[in-house]
Amino acid sequence: MATLSPLPPNFACKSVVSRGWRQGTNNNQQGVSNMEKIAFIGLGNMGGPMAANLARAGYDVTAFDLSETALAQAVANGCARGESAQQSVQGVDVVISMLPSGDAVKGLYLGARGLLQALSENALVIDCSTISAVDARQLIAAASERGIRAVDAPVSGGTAAAAAGTLSFMCGGDAGAVDAARPFLQAMGASIFHAGPAGSGQVAKICNNMLLAIHMIGTAEALQLGVDNGLDPTVLSDIMKASSGGNWSLEKYNPYPGVMDGVPASSGYAGGFAVALMLKDLGLAMDTAAGSASSTPLGALAKNLYQLHGGSDENRRLDFSSIQNLFRRPAGRGSGERLVAGGTNVQLSLSQGPLRRLPSTSVTR
Ligand code: NAD
Repeated sequence: MATLSPLPPNFACKSVVSRGWRQGTNNNQQGVSNMEKIAFIGLGNMGGPMAANLARAGYDVTAFDLSETALAQAVANGCARGESAQQSVQGVDVVISMLPSGDAVKGLYLGARGLLQALSENALVIDCSTISAVDARQLIAAASERGIRAVDAPVSGGTAAAAAGTLSFMCGGDAGAVDAARPFLQAMGASIFHAGPAGSGQVAKICNNMLLAIHMIGTAEALQLGVDNGLDPTVLSDIMKASSGGNWSLEKYNPYPGVMDGVPASSGYAGGFAVALMLKDLGLAMDTAAGSASSTPLGALAKNLYQLHGGSDENRRLDFSSIQNLFRRPAGRGSGERLVAGGTNVQLSLSQGPLRRLPSTSVTR
């Protein structure tokens, strides 16, 4: 049996800093920094409310997005209108980005026309996008070459926390750069973690989301097993919450329709955290596992199941708790059509070469 590799040495979570910020106040009075002018690039579901919270906190925010609709909303929320990414960063001390992918982030900052060429030394770059740790390290190294401080600061909490200013930030980078970023992050979030050096925030983020996918799938599977055997999903949820099966998906984000108010499962799985984004994060987790030769069979299976579920554009747009639908019996479906994996069970194989590979999983119906 293969021995498990230890976690990469840079993974230790160093410190937890809770905030003293209240919405509507400018927390930039801690003496940590006197930088006030911010460019915010990427005003989507997350970036839009985050930029609005910075403006509300009293910062001078110039916002830019490729989408005119997103930009107009940011202006309505108190940001100045940026005409381009390059124009937005003129004379600013801090750039914050919230983009969909590593390619978008590298395209924004790197290269001859990238923002790093337009920023002054001592500027601070805070990238909050979820991207690979490799891409984050590349950005931070390129920034450092120009004397620009940079941190990766992906978030947890989703769109509701972005709007409420209660996000969790997981930061990677030098302690000095993370300290410099702190006042700005406090205007958008409730907790700030310094996970370790450059890229560590991204590693923490994908570890968390891989675990989230696993316990969401396990919760959906257990609930359906109970329902298929005559249990009321609300009663079963109450039992498991008070028992050893309790977990965040069950307690805060029940995937079974009608069990919990105010969660996507009770409104057709609309809004929330899209299956497409969970698939992106699971892909990043598997790439990271391959890079460190880590064994992540449950993560691989979770990705496999989300791929199966996200086979249509419609499903990819649904909240990730809609994985429940993979287990529910459609009307008229016979018991012979149950979801099985590898015949009767999940087939997992672990290849053990000099560099251990990811276990491959297969799921069939
Ligand atoms: P989104 O698609 O709603 O927004 C992305 C925005 O970036 C869009 O408005 C797009 O027009 C803009 N954009 C893309 N390239 C650009 C460029 N070069 N210049 C300017 N604007 C550009 O995505 P989102 O839901 O806001 O997610 C953003 C990031 O946050 C992603 O990395 C995602 O994985 C992460 N995230 C999302 C959630 C969530 O619940 N939505 C939760 C945690 C983390």
